[in-house]
Amino acid sequence: MLNKNDVVTVEITDIGVGGEGIGRVDGYTLFIKDAIIGDVVEAKVMKAKKNYGYARMMEIIHPSADRVEPKCAFARKCGGCQIQEMSYERQLAFKEQKIRGNLERIGGFDRGKIDAVMEPVEGMDEPFRYRNKAQFPFGTDKEGNPVTGFYAGRTHDIIANTECILGVEQNREILEIILQYMKENCVAAYDEKSGKGLIRHVLIRYGFTTKEIMVCLVINGTKLPKADRLIKKLTQLEGMTSITLSPNTRRDNVIMGNSYEVLWGQGFITDYIGNVKYQISPLSFYQVNPVQTEKLYGLALEYADLKGTETVWDLYCGIGTISLFLAQKAKQVYGVEIVPQAIEDAKNNAKINEINNAAFYVGKAEEVLPDYYEEYAKTHGGEKARADVIVVDPPRKGCDETLLETIVKMEPEKVVYVSCDSATLARDLKYLCENGYEIRKVRGVDQFPETVHVETVVLLSQQKPDDTIEIDLDLDELDATSAELKATYQKIKDYVLKEFGLRVSSLYISQVKRKCGIEVGENYNLPKSENARVPQCPKEKEEAIKAALKYFAMI
Ligand code: SAH
Repeated sequence: MLNKNDVVTVEITDIGVGGEGIGRVDGYTLFIKDAIIGDVVEAKVMKAKKNYGYARMMEIIHPSADRVEPKCAFARKCGGCQIQEMSYERQLAFKEQKIRGNLERIGGFDRGKIDAVMEPVEGMDEPFRYRNKAQFPFGTDKEGNPVTGFYAGRTHDIIANTECILGVEQNREILEIILQYMKENCVAAYDEKSGKGLIRHVLIRYGFTTKEIMVCLVINGTKLPKADRLIKKLTQLEGMTSITLSPNTRRDNVIMGNSYEVLWGQGFITDYIGNVKYQISPLSFYQVNPVQTEKLYGLALEYADLKGTETVWDLYCGIGTISLFLAQKAKQVYGVEIVPQAIEDAKNNAKINEINNAAFYVGKAEEVLPDYYEEYAKTHGGEKARADVIVVDPPRKGCDETLLETIVKMEPEKVVYVSCDSATLARDLKYLCENGYEIRKVRGVDQFPETVHVETVVLLSQQKPDDTIEIDLDLDELDATSAELKATYQKIKDYVLKEFGLRVSSLYISQVKRKCGIEVGENYNLPKSENARVPQCPKEKEEAIKAALKYFAMI
């Protein structure tokens, strides 16, 4: 084992979930921030546990082929980006690996299955300046000047930087104007420790399509002194649409206040995702990477494969973004979301887009859907509530089991799972796949380049008896003598399809052959794993197969 302060040379062979490099020294595992896979580094042990420790990278002895020069001078110190020193290609590979790893370890899916459903991560052409939203904290430096920038990783120390390269270029000028206004008018930044001072944060939003800008100042009070001076400067910027104040006098970590007041212009900006228009207020949730969000929702829509006749539920719908996207192709969409303000936005967004087939409910998805299901049965003489497609887009903690249970009961043909945490995704997929669903497609969408986060979209649909066979028993796995058998099996399949319009699997054929006293290879009836379900051939197909066996003079 290694001890604190030991200095070692180590090759980085793996990446942790937080983007840190992982290397091994005589079987002892070291986690090394900022080291990337393929690097050989000199590292100093900072914390040593029995089997693993944390080390600081002192020097890169041999850089990895995947290492690139970071674009931001603060890439290492700042808590915003974790993997800026990794080539973008490698970042995408890392993200795909993260999803695969969770599906395998937590979901219990085997590699063959994952290979069969996994599509490559959807990346960005230009993985910088993608954020339409930024929240900058304000503070005071040692000389007493106001500063703004970002928190250093895991702390609340502000790194002065108005040039974040994930955000839009307009941010810098807005921040400089605010700092200038603070200096000239002796307006102090808020100090977390004492609870004194006024300016806490600024929230800036930029409409990528409309080019509209929103500035919302979060202040420790209710009034901004000499506000007109600030407004005069800010309104000279092209696109300025909304300037607001959000009072927040609480002493907690939550950035925004509970309300906002319009200082100039209107209380919201407008933007588009695809052809759907959204009004975004300072307190609305809105996806931060509009370019990738369009791809994400496009994928959800593609997976849902709507024909116009479907009833669709969009659970955890936020301001109705996915719901409105789907509503254009579905018969009826129901959205459910816990935050009342978001539902108001959702209803308003439906209205401004003249979408009339989307209804929204406030509440917990795990309560609203089960209640609806039970109520439906009561008012429809015991009939089951059904849905064609259910979309879920839960927060990091994933779906509640009560919700998954109800989804299974409602038997939607398809479930589209949009996830921001592939670990809880894998857990929930395991449940759904143990209860009648099958994963068809999995695809990561890189909403947050330079960070370790990845969004995942999964298409599930109901298992059909034939699916289980494809996995549990594959004719190609049979021994060499099977060539002839294979031909016969294929002939039987073709015959049954042609004569009866039915698709039958090899497993069903073997079951019927056995019933008819024909010897079959012993592999035929055995599932690969002990607990796999073995579907039994339905009567109708049995009759069809018997007819084929007769036709081929086998019985
Ligand atoms: N689909 C939306 C938002 C997804 S974020 C979009 O793409 O814009 C997850 C959303 O789930 C948040 O809006 C959050 O407020 C909401 N939420 C969290 N817990 C919930 C619960 N138990 N039931 C319903 N919604 C919940």
